[in-house]
Amino acid sequence: MLLRCAVLAILTLNSAGLYGRAQDAPASATASVADELIARVGSPSKLAMKAFKKAGMQGVTPHTLTAEERSKVEAALKSLPTISKRVLEKKLHSLAFVDGIPGEGTGLTSPYAKTGLYDITLRASIVDESLSTFLTTKERRVFADDGSGTTVTVTGTGTNALTYVLLHESSHVVDKGCGITASPHGKFEDGIWTSLKEMTPTVAADTPKTYFRGGAKLPAAEAEATYDALSHTPFVSLYATASEMEDFAELVAWHEILDQHQGDLVIEVKDAHGNTLKQWHPLTFPGVQGRFANVDELLASRDDCRNLFPE
Ligand SMILES: [Zn+2]
Repeated sequence: MLLRCAVLAILTLNSAGLYGRAQDAPASATASVADELIARVGSPSKLAMKAFKKAGMQGVTPHTLTAEERSKVEAALKSLPTISKRVLEKKLHSLAFVDGIPGEGTGLTSPYAKTGLYDITLRASIVDESLSTFLTTKERRVFADDGSGTTVTVTGTGTNALTYVLLHESSHVVDKGCGITASPHGKFEDGIWTSLKEMTPTVAADTPKTYFRGGAKLPAAEAEATYDALSHTPFVSLYATASEMEDFAELVAWHEILDQHQGDLVIEVKDAHGNTLKQWHPLTFPGVQGRFANVDELLASRDDCRNLFPE
């Protein structure tokens, strides 16, 4: 649970001290923001290592990036939206990579001591993973083998898993740093969320209850009905239904993949013979398209981040 994505870890470990009292990381006046960020790629914090161990992952060890891996990380950091880079410049303590995360775990974003800064710790093998592999693995956990032979395949184009994960995780830091999901009646929750975990009754009634939303694994044969239901919601992915924070991070990440990387997201359900039963294009769901304007507005304006970037 902890390592599924990990904004949960932020909330449980540090719900106080994020605003107002937070110290900002020092920034150099001369280096570019991306250079500043790559300089923070380092060893995982003790707290992050402790969190992995606490989650039963005894075999997790720090990973030192090769020169090639480091340049991939640098490129991914450079491609982040300006607001994400600027918030990370103020709020990122370290970006670290580890080996030995079992299964499909991704990593975690956790507060660094009580400084208001964050550590992002990621599974090192993400650096070489394709976006489609990453997404398909994650999505298949929603369904249980029921003998029907039905499978789900996700295709993500435009960028790689590392860039997607950094887009997603950095959006959590933007969210916390700028108080986006914490502010009542914000434009990202309006009509969708009544609290960080609760949807409005109308949206909740339309939204499939999956493993990501506290439900059980669904029989694979229900995949088609599940994505049909999702297409009538404001959510870009099943994972976005987990909480308002995940919804925000997913919306920003996919907005950027569409807009900056000219990518797409396609979900396919296939039968036992490998024939495609149905395809969905979540970036074109009407409920999602309508919300991309909110992301445009956020990325173009400093209004949501006045506490970090005073005029
Ligand atoms: Zn997340």
